[in-house]
Amino acid sequence: MNRDFTLNKYRELCKAFRKHRYTVCTVADYLENQHSEENIVVLRHDVDRRLQHAVRMAEIEHDFGLRSSYYFRYSKSVFEPASIQMIANMGHEIGYHYETLDKAKGNYEKAITIFENELSKFREIAEIKTICMHGNPLTKWLNRDLWSRYDFKDFGIIGEAFLSFEDIAYFSDTGRTWADKYKVKDYIPSDEACGEDLKKRETLKCTDDLVSLIGNGNQQTAYILTHPERWSNGIIGWIMGYSKDMAVNLGKKVIMFVR
Ligand SMILES: [Zn+2]
Repeated sequence: MNRDFTLNKYRELCKAFRKHRYTVCTVADYLENQHSEENIVVLRHDVDRRLQHAVRMAEIEHDFGLRSSYYFRYSKSVFEPASIQMIANMGHEIGYHYETLDKAKGNYEKAITIFENELSKFREIAEIKTICMHGNPLTKWLNRDLWSRYDFKDFGIIGEAFLSFEDIAYFSDTGRTWADKYKVKDYIPSDEACGEDLKKRETLKCTDDLVSLIGNGNQQTAYILTHPERWSNGIIGWIMGYSKDMAVNLGKKVIMFVR
């Protein structure tokens, strides 16, 4: 059985970036600098749970000499300064994966106060230049809507991982698939009408297909998101991750049906 979403598979993806001479950069690097390279990948990770998976993924990238962005939730299982520091020390960008509209149950004033507090906790560990919304399919709020009333630049933030991007092909592992299915809140808002990229994503049946896309020279710019919790080599961890994804996808189907 060819298992997908394993760390070995992730290594193949990293190998493809190197082999086909992609410049791999962090979100902050991409937003701050004018990149003129022919092939470029923005590499992002949302750390929702299972922090140790992020550490392992960071080490793999480090072995390949790659730097990427890791966004951490401010939650019991993920906000662990020593591990976050370890990832920062490998040269990766540390970002804040905020979910404050959810936490404040839609109250914007409360949400921005929580945002400011949690951001300051992260800034005790590392420099924080960018932020990224966490999308919980079960809540009715979209955390990035916070910025319809406030400006993240007032908090010394240069970019938001969804709102600050446009005209870029976005590939995400949400729902354990690279296609658009099951991505309830995980999309680039300015990209909604982008039929070309959508068509391309629908052809990706597995990570091997993404590796081929990187190798065939037709995808010069890509913005790739993974959730490290999903990528396990051990069979038990893999089965746990697989079962959880299938259960969440079923929940999303029900929600989409009800709505
Ligand atoms: Zn998330």
